[in-house]
Amino acid sequence: MKKQFVVIGLGRFGSSVCKELYHLGHEVLAVDLQEGKVRDMVDFSTHAVVANGTEEKDLKALGVRNFDYGIVAIGENIEASIQSTLLLKELGLKAVVKAQNIHHHKILDKIGADRIIHPEQDMGIRVAHQLDSEKVIEFIELSKDYSIVEMEATPKLNNKTLVQLNIRAKYGCTVLAIKRGEDINIAPHPDDVIFEKDILVVMGHKQELKRLEDKGI
Ligand code: ADP
Repeated sequence: MKKQFVVIGLGRFGSSVCKELYHLGHEVLAVDLQEGKVRDMVDFSTHAVVANGTEEKDLKALGVRNFDYGIVAIGENIEASIQSTLLLKELGLKAVVKAQNIHHHKILDKIGADRIIHPEQDMGIRVAHQLDSEKVIEFIELSKDYSIVEMEATPKLNNKTLVQLNIRAKYGCTVLAIKRGEDINIAPHPDDVIFEKDILVVMGHKQELKRLEDKGI
């Protein structure tokens, strides 16, 4: 379903979010103080405007209160990021905010930010997990304890069904999808057969996923 987003701050993070949301078919209003940054987003947003994300009158004039989500991607100016988040919440939007550090995170949490992102740290964790195991291709952290990983099936799994592998009973993990080349099976059946080099998308407790990776896959 088409949603409406306003992206405030068009640095590396904000402009990537803006482009991708627009590419996915959503309505995206791109806002920055710098004309050059705004100009760069003209072809990658529904509207791109020079405005101040910390000014209530600017946001009101842009009709921001009708939007679903506000993405605050203001760089190092923590005060401006907090101010902008407060305004977006007052105008009734869900706020997704890039945090600079733990103090900033705590304040954002207190003022009701709906999602707080630490792009560098999150990417660092993902890369570390990918490097830690040659079998893990992609890693998504769901919570402190749970994650979703993509693992490549080794020859050990070749020609076995999910029932035979019994991953849920042995490891308490769920196979959410099986990727084979360009194809993806998003509702795997217990009798579906796995082949070597298939990519399994598995959700579970981190310790159990590690056990599956070391012993089961
Ligand atoms: P990144 O680390 O994602 O590249 P930057 O610090 O380079 O972040 O970019 C932040 C952007 O936010 C800059 O383009 C800056 O002009 C913009 N910005 C800063 N304050 C405001 C504000 N009050 N309103 C709108 N945009 C802002």
